[in-house]
Amino acid sequence: MELQSVDILKKLITYKTITPKEENIYQYIYSFFDGWEKIHFDRNETKNLFIYKKFGEGEHLCFAGHIDVVPPGDGWETDPFEPIEKDGKLFGRGTQDMKGGVAAFVSACKDLKEFNGTVSLLLTSDEEGDAYDGTIFVLEELKKMKMLPDMCVIAEPTCEEKFGDAIKVGRRGSINGYLTIEGFSGHAAYPEKCDNPLHNFGDFLASVAGLDLDNGDDFFAPSKLVVTDLRSGYEVTNLTPGSLKMMFNVRNSTNTTKEDLEKFVKTNLEKSNISKYQLELKQGSFPFVTKEGKYSKRLVETISKSIEEISGITPKRSTAGGTSDARFMGQFGIDVIEFGVINDTIHSPNERTTIKEIEDLEKVFINFLTNI
Ligand SMILES: [Zn+2]
Repeated sequence: MELQSVDILKKLITYKTITPKEENIYQYIYSFFDGWEKIHFDRNETKNLFIYKKFGEGEHLCFAGHIDVVPPGDGWETDPFEPIEKDGKLFGRGTQDMKGGVAAFVSACKDLKEFNGTVSLLLTSDEEGDAYDGTIFVLEELKKMKMLPDMCVIAEPTCEEKFGDAIKVGRRGSINGYLTIEGFSGHAAYPEKCDNPLHNFGDFLASVAGLDLDNGDDFFAPSKLVVTDLRSGYEVTNLTPGSLKMMFNVRNSTNTTKEDLEKFVKTNLEKSNISKYQLELKQGSFPFVTKEGKYSKRLVETISKSIEEISGITPKRSTAGGTSDARFMGQFGIDVIEFGVINDTIHSPNERTTIKEIEDLEKVFINFLTNI
């Protein structure tokens, strides 16, 4: 099997696939998959492609990724949509996030001759955007067709300092909070005639700001309440404010739910004698961890072993960072892990990866396909 991931990546960079544009990149990718089935799942502006082949009766393994990139922005020294190779590095928008990963799994799968089950590729043009019409839509459709994968590998860039040092086995969720404390404004010279929301607020703020809602575990850091905005008053000294507004966020682990957070905030409001308030909590994404699923052990152990064989490094199992499409796999009960190149220039000018990392990533996926 000849390694072709670097050549494929160079070609992928030339497509200006800024979310949700697809620019016929799928036509190029599919050209490697003669004899595989393909289904287009398009909705609104988003284009999704699902390619699969049934080699045998065993499990269904899916490689997933996004072909869209964020806009280049300013500060580039080269054309962001032209692959430039220099000193073993490859520059271009999407080299790390995540056309590099897509190139590696396309190259690893394209010449596959044997597999005890089904192999598929799930590609979307809407990961960097709202993601309503991307991976989650494809999974809804696959579910109706009874074709949901059993296991999934997402080739997002997960490594921190060295290639092979980290895989993602889950992600934290995110809950946004909006609290308004009601009062009654009036002249500062007659405080007894006012209900000043600022005066009761000190105790409450101290009881919640920066506090951990759980102790974390082997997979997650503690879920911390982080205050993001606080405002009240009229920027004057003779008038007390009529209300106070606080915004906050919790990146929550599987040990803390939205209900736990609501109880925590309400209890502390009560303790601080604050009774007139409105509290709104919105869960933007749910936390998940690949540890109890039917295939999770096999998935995590096989990819870890493949990484060790190629890089000589034992990857740590992380759930840090922002959200990714892996959350949708978690929602549909699909065991999922993420592994890809070093993540240190994503979304930045002069985004780059190294030729060696892309080749090694392809080797890891080839090894993984043989051993899973
Ligand atoms: Zn990405």
